[in-house]
Amino acid sequence: MTDKTLKPLAALYDDMDKTWNKIAAGYHFNCNGCEDNCCKSLFFHHTYIEKAYILHGFNALDPNRKEKILNKAANYCKKTFPQSLEIRILKIYCPVNENGQCLLYKYRPMICRLHGLPHELCKPGFDPIKGTGCDAGLFDDKTYIKFDRTPFYQQMAQIEIAFRQNLNKTGKIKETIAQMLVSQ
Ligand code: SF4
Repeated sequence: MTDKTLKPLAALYDDMDKTWNKIAAGYHFNCNGCEDNCCKSLFFHHTYIEKAYILHGFNALDPNRKEKILNKAANYCKKTFPQSLEIRILKIYCPVNENGQCLLYKYRPMICRLHGLPHELCKPGFDPIKGTGCDAGLFDDKTYIKFDRTPFYQQMAQIEIAFRQNLNKTGKIKETIAQMLVSQ
């Protein structure tokens, strides 16, 4: 996997981060970690390019750290998916989180980047679907600052289509970070 292949995704992530930071600053919100840490949420990711990007970051880690993470990922999968169709929502840390820090922060997927702030998603012909922010931000007491995720989702879909075409990838993907790591 070349850096060139992943460049459009890195640029999109950069845009997301800038937008997120600007809106968070508007709320005077700083994410300093919290008890209900979002890295304990059961997030599924749906793009092959995001999987390629996080594995690209993972493969640049030193072998000891990789081994530790892979052990944690295997344990995560065992607990969360004990049977083929069973999913247990256990609020356990993502295997790449160590002491509250994401070891692959630069490579983290879209949902990790967009999480936390109140937002909306707009489908043509429908009212916007609104999402709440995390509890730590106390956003219910604040005036909503528009955060439309729609353009990010649309750009992600285009980047994913091009990536799939280039690599002849087909079919759906729905994986946690732990599953991405153990299935690479
Ligand atoms: S990839 Fe990083 S930011 Fe996302 S859930 Fe895992 S540890 Fe947290």
